[in-house]
Order: sequence, then structure tokens, then C-alpha cells
Amino acid sequence: MNVIFEIYKTLLKKFGKQGWWPTTKANSLIPVYDKNFPKKRRTEREKLEIAIGAILTQNTTWKNVEKAIKNLKKNGLLNRKKLKEISVEELANYIRSSGYFKQKAKKIKAYIEFKGKVTRKNLLKIWGVGKETADSILLYAYNKPIFVIDAYTKRILSRIGFNAKTYEEFQNIFHNNLRRNHIIFNEYHALLVKLAKEYCKKNNPLCKKCPILKFCNYGKSKV
Ligand code: SF4
Repeated sequence: MNVIFEIYKTLLKKFGKQGWWPTTKANSLIPVYDKNFPKKRRTEREKLEIAIGAILTQNTTWKNVEKAIKNLKKNGLLNRKKLKEISVEELANYIRSSGYFKQKAKKIKAYIEFKGKVTRKNLLKIWGVGKETADSILLYAYNKPIFVIDAYTKRILSRIGFNAKTYEEFQNIFHNNLRRNHIIFNEYHALLVKLAKEYCKKNNPLCKKCPILKFCNYGKSKV
């Protein structure tokens, strides 16, 4: 049995399509989810917004990112030209809600200055873009089939019983067990985040009610 694929099917059945990555629309300042978004081609504006969101979400909650995105959009700053013109200090003011705002403003500016081909290797050369951010940009902004690993994913997989330590070891679990398909990777990562927030919490996971209990060593040992 392909446990990774079985877990995916179980989570999709339980939670449904998650519609990541949320982006603002013509009539909305707040990013919204769209169940069909994984299948759609991204506009240049959406790619930029997703990349900015991926930087802003480092070490903070999505709620705080939403406020920063709203501020940027309201002031016409979800725009490459405008972001190039604005100073780091001014930009930092608009994104205060996301925390570490001075650093993040510098990171956004560094990203905007990047001119090369969008590959993982090149993204990782940009100051402030680590593996999780690079992979989020590739998967969610550019529809590349690269699995995003975050703290939620590591927690869930470790509890299930996978013996992985490094980012790449966790990533390979998905790359080796699933069809390399950006729609599946998009949904699966979003579903794991949902599972982590609702069931597989850091402290006191709700194993008894967890939809993937039957696949999980830790859960089975607890109930
Ligand atoms: S059974 Fe418990 S530990 Fe395992 S994934 Fe579910 S909530 Fe997490």
C-alpha cells in the first residue's frame, strides 16, 4: 500500500479541496481561496502576490500576512515597478503586521531585483529566500511540481512514523511516492496544514478523532 497516497486520498475526502494559494481578486483587498485555483494559470500579478505572501508568511500566521497584503494592495504596491521605486523603510511600514517587517521589506526588495530564470537553484541565491519559501514560490506561483515542507508537515510525518530529518528527506517521501503533479502537491500540502491546525496540534493532538489515525504510529499508541 502506498501510505502517502492513501493519506492524501483520506484527507481530500475529509476536508475537500483547499483552494490554495489565496490571492486578492479585482474586488477584494483580502486574499481569498478558490477551489479551482490549483488548475489555473497564474497571472504575473498573482505570481508576484504569491511570492510576496511566501516571504511575509515566514515566522508568522496567515492572519498577519493578510493584513500586510491588504495594506500593499490598497496602496497599489502589489506591483513590481512600484515595489522597485519604494524605499525599504517605506515598504517596511506597510507590512508591519507581518512581524520582522524591516527584514521582510529587504527580502521583498531582493526578490523584486531578481532577474534570472525561476529555478530552485536561482531562487535560493536570493537573500532571504530559504528552501520552504523557494518551494512555495515554485509550487504555488509557478505551478512546478515541488513539494513544500514546513513545520506542520515534519510534525505529521514524524508522528506517522517516517524516519526523516532533513528538508530533502521529508521532501523525497512525497516526490518518491506520488505522481509529480503540481495540483496534487498543491492540495496535499494545504491539506496537511489543515490537519495540523485542526487535529495534529503541537501539544495535545486530537488523535482519537483524527481522519488518518489508522496510518499513524504515534496516534495508535495513544488511543
Ligand atoms: S493520529 Fe494524532 S499524531 Fe497522528 S496525525 Fe493524527 S493527530 Fe497527528
